[in-house]
Amino acid sequence: MEFSKHNIISRLKDSEDYFIVNLLSRNADILTEDQYQEFLAHNINITEELKEKGYIIDPETENNIYRQKYLEFIDNRETDEIQLFFVPGYACNFKCSYCYQDEYLNKYEQIDDQIITSFFNYIDSEFVNRKKYITIFGGEPLLNIKAQSNFYKRFIRECNMRNLDIAVVTNGYNLLSFIPVLKSASIREVQVTLDGTEDTHNTRRPHKNGSSTFLRIVDGIDALLRERIPVNLRMVIDKGNIEELSKLARFANHKGWTNNQLFKTQLGRNYELHHCQVESNRLYTRLGMYEDIYEQLKLYPEIKEFYKPAFSVAKFLFEEGELPDPLFDSCPGTKTEWAFDYTGKIYSCTATVGKEGEELGTFYPEVTKKEEIIEEWQNRDVLAIPECKDCSVQLACGGGCGSVSKNHTGRICSPDCRPVKELLELGLSYYFRETPKDFFIKN
Ligand code: SF4
Ligand code: SF4
Repeated sequence: MEFSKHNIISRLKDSEDYFIVNLLSRNADILTEDQYQEFLAHNINITEELKEKGYIIDPETENNIYRQKYLEFIDNRETDEIQLFFVPGYACNFKCSYCYQDEYLNKYEQIDDQIITSFFNYIDSEFVNRKKYITIFGGEPLLNIKAQSNFYKRFIRECNMRNLDIAVVTNGYNLLSFIPVLKSASIREVQVTLDGTEDTHNTRRPHKNGSSTFLRIVDGIDALLRERIPVNLRMVIDKGNIEELSKLARFANHKGWTNNQLFKTQLGRNYELHHCQVESNRLYTRLGMYEDIYEQLKLYPEIKEFYKPAFSVAKFLFEEGELPDPLFDSCPGTKTEWAFDYTGKIYSCTATVGKEGEELGTFYPEVTKKEEIIEEWQNRDVLAIPECKDCSVQLACGGGCGSVSKNHTGRICSPDCRPVKELLELGLSYYFRETPKDFFIKN
């Protein structure tokens, strides 16, 4: 009997208590200082329970469980829904201070009807019998109602014929004019970005012509909710606007958005995906962002209504009352996610779409595939990344993002480490310190 390789143990932030989390056995406990010391000393009074929970286990038994869970993970993924991104163009009407696509070719081009035909032919044959939906992405995909109306008519008709839901990722500027178009589709959600309240948002996300954008976007969000179209409000955060989180939360609460079942939020970290942004000292590390969110939540409890941070698996544990299944791979690229653009190219996902050299094939004018690279992407998981092999947090981390790791090391199968332990220190403290659950051994 030994300590499990998958124990994640540390002290809760702002507390004397410790936690132990094990994603393989799917158990989690909070330990007092004494219990923690007893655990380290293999004290017999406590280890019976700890053995049952898989914190202390025979290594061979653990390896067998690990293999079995891995096979289940791969099997389950075969039936997961696939998200297919389609980029109708890379042009954009905004000049955001941090846009990672600002180096891409930025000209609006009409989409050839044949491209739409080829795209649907490709997904019909390639993803036949798979649950799937399409996300329209840019650039800015809702750019010009006149020029794009033929494209949307045809594209939505093809989706409707196949019962495919559509999600849209937009800056929100033209939402009002696109509402009738959106109403003709089965819209799963529209993701819109606000980076704070009016002044801050307008400084960070102005129109290309210099005008402000906040009020138009807010009107668009109101209109979506009126039409019962789900909204996913994204706020892109860096050190320059973290203070806006509570203000935007108050704004959204006041608007009644946060009481609407159709409204949800996400925070995006503004980070250097492909090239340096102008003021890179503003960028957060993943941990830095969550540390500041934790502090903001303490200062401004009203944020809770607006945004519930994941803090690795802490939120899931709090809301579901159990841990998620072990995560052998956190990068959906080429497995349950693909991206396609209006030039006929195929990419792994939104992080690589439109980036020269990242094409994995074409669906137009003919179908071609870079089989070897696709295979490398598809094989990427914590078993294929050598650095992850002995990592105790691997089943919460899943190896991170394939695109980020490739940008850092040149290898797809290399790690993009997530600060799992530190995030759990914050998250378990935030979600559980005042409301211990009865499945925790602390009482
Ligand atoms: S490469 Fe990164 S952005 Fe792309 S699917 Fe994987 S995790 Fe997501
Ligand atoms: S990417 Fe890093 S943190 Fe994640 S499992 Fe691999 S080694 Fe561990």
